Amino acid sequence: MDSIRRGRFAPTPSGDMHLGNAKIALLSWLQMRAANGVFLLRIEDIDLQRSRPEKSVQIMDDLRWLGLDWDEGPGALEPHSPYFQSQRLELYANALNRLEAEGLLYPCYCSRAELHGIAGAPHGLASEGAPYSGACRRLTKTDRAERARRKTPSLRFALPEVPQDQLLCFQDGIAGAQQFSPGGGGDFVVRRADGMYSYQLAVTVDDALMEITDVLRGDDLLDSTPRQIQLYRALGWGEQIPSFAHAPLLLGADGTRLAKRHGDLSIASLRSDGVLPTTLIGWLAYVSGLIDHFEPLTASDLIAEFTLEKLHQEPFVVNVQALSLLYGN
Ligand code: GLU
Repeated sequence: MDSIRRGRFAPTPSGDMHLGNAKIALLSWLQMRAANGVFLLRIEDIDLQRSRPEKSVQIMDDLRWLGLDWDEGPGALEPHSPYFQSQRLELYANALNRLEAEGLLYPCYCSRAELHGIAGAPHGLASEGAPYSGACRRLTKTDRAERARRKTPSLRFALPEVPQDQLLCFQDGIAGAQQFSPGGGGDFVVRRADGMYSYQLAVTVDDALMEITDVLRGDDLLDSTPRQIQLYRALGWGEQIPSFAHAPLLLGADGTRLAKRHGDLSIASLRSDGVLPTTLIGWLAYVSGLIDHFEPLTASDLIAEFTLEKLHQEPFVVNVQALSLLYGN
């Protein structure tokens, strides 16, 4: 018997859940329900400054309203507790200790201005800015001691040296075959100067320890995947690397990523406008490519016919016409 598949939805509670987040939640829920797998909810509130506890409560309420239940996570079974990143700091510290012991970390003293001054190389992983040049990797002990007097460093993960022509490849369940230059974005930050663990580190540790087999998320995170794969390997979890599927984003009518400026498209505000959960689920299924014509449906109605192959590979533009389906006018 194949082992049980495990997927997750991992929202950051810095704002209200909007249509784009709800689409990802629906697709990852469907992927697990169609596979008789386990669906897990993890709250990515590692950035305490941006996260708001009341938003976590609202997200969970919105998910329940949409009919997207979770088997593991807050308020459900908790075998991998805790499910809030803010309560998992010790696990991230342990992972860093292991990387440190392998000689795979180094302090970086570069200022913001220095980082901005570094010209972008052609294979940069755009989501985290210009690729890092590795300047601090080459500092001598004396240089480090000298710079440490003036600045608290961040910590960077030293990417393993591999020949430039040896590409990092993986098959994405939605976006198809992917190839990245392994050194692409350069050595990346795993702990910021203020002590906060980075998204890349936290998500890798959590997905590995929570035994996630299937990651489905927005394709703005596609180019984070090579970094996470390299962390899996460096932490000795190479056998456990999940399957990845990156779904295209929803865009506003102006072609930019759907955001507050496109109007309040939060689930909370749609709810208070009287939009029904079946309308919203049918709409999300339609804009994702799961159904050809818009019709009200429950999430459960979509399980039997769900496959990743059906999903659109192009972003969907939420224009006035698409919104009128939601509002029924
Ligand atoms: N917390 C991230 C977000 O809300 C998602 C991280 C992930 O799925 O890897 O965008």
